[in-house]
Amino acid sequence: MSSYSGNGDDEYHLRESLDEEFPLGDGTADVGTTVVCPYCGASVEIALDPGSGASQDYVEDCEVCCQPWQVTVHYDDEGHAEVSVTPLGD
Ligand SMILES: [Zn+2]
Repeated sequence: MSSYSGNGDDEYHLRESLDEEFPLGDGTADVGTTVVCPYCGASVEIALDPGSGASQDYVEDCEVCCQPWQVTVHYDDEGHAEVSVTPLGD
């Protein structure tokens, strides 16, 4: 029970330090990329949010076939995004 506030502090602190050491929100980082859907094979352009951190992991639906992807984003020091898309729930 006492761990609740502790977790909140850690999360807040992490976000703060990422913002200082990795200022991706200044317009130099990639804000979009094209991925190939693992289900239907379509090339789909997706938006990226550099402000969410150097490493991201989220679910997004293919806009062609509507299947859910697990999207993994990793920014390098120059703001170039490495993006991989895999089928969700594999
Ligand atoms: Zn698709």
